[in-house]
Amino acid sequence: MPAQIGVTGLAVMGANLARNFARNGYTVALHNRSVAKTDALLAAHGDEGDFIRTETLAELVENLEVPRRVLIMVKAGAPVDAVIEQLVPLLEAGDIVIDAGNSHYEDTRRREAALAEKGLHFVGVGVSGGEEGALLGPSIMPGGSRESYDALGPMLEKISAKVDGEPCCAWIGTDGAGHFVKMVHNGIEYADMQVIGEAYDLLRSGAGIEPAEQAAIFADWNKGDLASFLIEITAEVLGHVDAKTGKPFIDVVVDSAGQKGTGRWTVVSGLDLGSPVSGIAESVFARALSSQRGQRAEAQTALEGAVSEVALPENFVEDVRQALYASKLVSYAQGLDMLTSAAGEYGWDLKLDEIASLWRAGCIIRAELLKDITKAYAGGARPANLLFAPAFRDAIAAALPAWRRVVATAVQLGIPVPVFSSSLAYYDGLRRDRLPAALTQGLRDLFGAHTYGRIDAEGTFHTLWGGDKSEVAAVDTH
Ligand code: NAP
Repeated sequence: MPAQIGVTGLAVMGANLARNFARNGYTVALHNRSVAKTDALLAAHGDEGDFIRTETLAELVENLEVPRRVLIMVKAGAPVDAVIEQLVPLLEAGDIVIDAGNSHYEDTRRREAALAEKGLHFVGVGVSGGEEGALLGPSIMPGGSRESYDALGPMLEKISAKVDGEPCCAWIGTDGAGHFVKMVHNGIEYADMQVIGEAYDLLRSGAGIEPAEQAAIFADWNKGDLASFLIEITAEVLGHVDAKTGKPFIDVVVDSAGQKGTGRWTVVSGLDLGSPVSGIAESVFARALSSQRGQRAEAQTALEGAVSEVALPENFVEDVRQALYASKLVSYAQGLDMLTSAAGEYGWDLKLDEIASLWRAGCIIRAELLKDITKAYAGGARPANLLFAPAFRDAIAAALPAWRRVVATAVQLGIPVPVFSSSLAYYDGLRRDRLPAALTQGLRDLFGAHTYGRIDAEGTFHTLWGGDKSEVAAVDTH
């Protein structure tokens, strides 16, 4: 029997996806550059389903039903191009090459265009859920042509996570749309983790609540509107005691976090698209600052840290919970807004309700909140910003007093809360009647004749700053 799918790249993610397909009844042809990984997988899990062992890509391709589906799960970047280059001469028009790794969406757009010229489908698939998700049911975000989804989608839906029987997998849009959405998912994940960290820091350094007690607080929060995978595992991590020292585990972990991957890509794309993903950007920068360990050590003695005496607000823990909820909501709003901008830029018809719905399970940002986000965009509803959807508008209004108290208290205490505070600044920036951008425009016109618009007339204008300061209509240079 030919296999319905071939998987090449059998490190942890590829091996688990291959097992997931096999456990769901598909025959899976296996390949890895070094055969040892193929044999290790078969030795440990060969009895979980129907696998075909192959040693070369040619053998892999020979064992597949037509149209052939080859899923690549190798290290992102040059290795993906190397595998594609070897695969393409072995395939025929109509076959489907799938890249399920964490590739950059621009690479996916480039590869899709190149393979389309040869009559091949190239499908960039965002997969979230880590090792365990890959095996038990990830959240899956496939791009590529609609036609390729007809041949591939049902298989991906079958192995995906489910919510009330509904698969956490849907066709996202053409070319790099799947990888773009996965990238933004990861950006939101960065912000989600940072706001949790800021809440932890405020409760620890501001209110003196020790990790074990915080574990109970986070477990309690996980029963309400913050319920999510990341809040759940925060309770677990904070409750964990280091066996070696008997100290809270969190106190023996080096406090610096890396920021090279998809979070950084999200911010770079946000800048390119002019999309204000400030919460995600602050999360990436917070990790960058945490990694400057030399400067941080010097700052302990070099920099003054005078802070005001502050009486904590009466219900500080509840205030922090509300600030966390509001800031988290802003991160989702910013991420979804960036998807809208990207849809316009790249010609994708992104359905935000479907995207929110396939993040409800299987992936790292899975959260109760996503059910409400799905509802906010259901039936073609398109609030210009998630925060304008009635349910969220009211929720943020209710959290606002606590959010302001928490940010003000943090500033007085000298506890950095970059995402709590930048999210509040975004919120206030959105709702301000007049922004100081008018002054920016005035300055730019003075030093560089960059021109400006008027609130009371069409067109663009320039003031003769070096002359009699009269205003002239600017010449349209476009
Ligand atoms: P990995 O460590 O990123 O890559 C190792 C695999 O790539 C091995 O099978 C290796 O083959 C193969 N490889 C490397 N260079 C190659 C080349 N030039 N030609 C052919 N094969 C090559 O594996 P991973 O951790 O399983 O991750 C795979 C992908 O999934 C990556 O894109 C990663 O970013 C992504 N990922 C996603 C998640 C998630 O939650 N979605 C989690 C982790 C990783 P050999 O065994 O022969 O060296």
